[in-house]
Amino acid sequence: MKAMILSKRGPVGPDSLILKEIPVPSPGKGEVLIRVRSCGVCRTDLHVVEGDLPGVSPGTIPGHEIVGEIAGIGEEVTGWNLGDPVGMAWLYRSCGSCRFCLSGKENLCLSPLFTGYDRPGGFAEYVVGDGRFVYHLNIGDPSVFAPLLCAGIIGYRAFKRLGLFRGQHLGLYGFGASAHLVLQMAKSSGMSVSVISRGDAHQSLAREMGADFVGASGTHPPELLDGAILFAPAGEIVPDIMLDLDRGGRLLIAGIHLSDIPSLVYHDQLFLEKSLGSVTANTREDGLGLLKMARAFDITPRVRIYPLEDATSALMDLKNDQIRGACVLKVS
Ligand SMILES: [Zn+2]
Ligand SMILES: [Zn+2]
Repeated sequence: MKAMILSKRGPVGPDSLILKEIPVPSPGKGEVLIRVRSCGVCRTDLHVVEGDLPGVSPGTIPGHEIVGEIAGIGEEVTGWNLGDPVGMAWLYRSCGSCRFCLSGKENLCLSPLFTGYDRPGGFAEYVVGDGRFVYHLNIGDPSVFAPLLCAGIIGYRAFKRLGLFRGQHLGLYGFGASAHLVLQMAKSSGMSVSVISRGDAHQSLAREMGADFVGASGTHPPELLDGAILFAPAGEIVPDIMLDLDRGGRLLIAGIHLSDIPSLVYHDQLFLEKSLGSVTANTREDGLGLLKMARAFDITPRVRIYPLEDATSALMDLKNDQIRGACVLKVS
């Protein structure tokens, strides 16, 4: 099978990933083989390639927003048949026995495996998944919906954890793949949404998609926020966002990697029960919740499609803010 394989870690360039012909993997006990139809390209893939995450070695196959169909079934797998449409996300598997898994927080598992990081990912024609951690799909065109499997799920987890309700005001800082899906979730739920983002293309997309206020980096929303999500990997803007929060407001950081956060002034930026937190990986419940919400509210990614062989160009375009919405590799 064809796969795009990491050849060297470091700033993404034309030879970061190379196309190789490798054997189709076989599913082990509890695993399924997935024929990949399409795979989204996420900022985490960029962090994997650029070495921002520890422990990545050449030979890694990135990609964790996978949509395809079941092409093989290992021993002791239940609930899957050949040909079933399937989605696979970042959480490849959690251990099932640590104190976090046992308390329903499998996203915080002490020994998890992640797709396209610890395990081969979806920048390939076939991938193996854990039969208990992949999703039945009942959605349309796979090339459009792949970004739901990470950008959608992580955005959903952040959105849900803010606990906002109709009429409240949400701020989105950075407007990439995940934010443009959260905007749809929030507008469908009757909230007002302010988007702060660098880049004209991102700002114009936010306007087209119904954001109530759109501003460039450094601008402030017209009113204080009840909740905010930071998607850009820019820790330096956290103090400013904390100033944009209303009393009791909460900022969640949705990325896996963030530059350092400068010091905060307690009285202005945390007092009055403001809070700052993060969103880490996903539970299977998040995945199911997101897929249900996407169907109910018709949440649809805007995508730019690349062939598998152009994965490196997709990563470079993502890094250079050239993508409106999300990018997807069409594999087969
Ligand atoms: Zn665990
Ligand atoms: Zn991701």
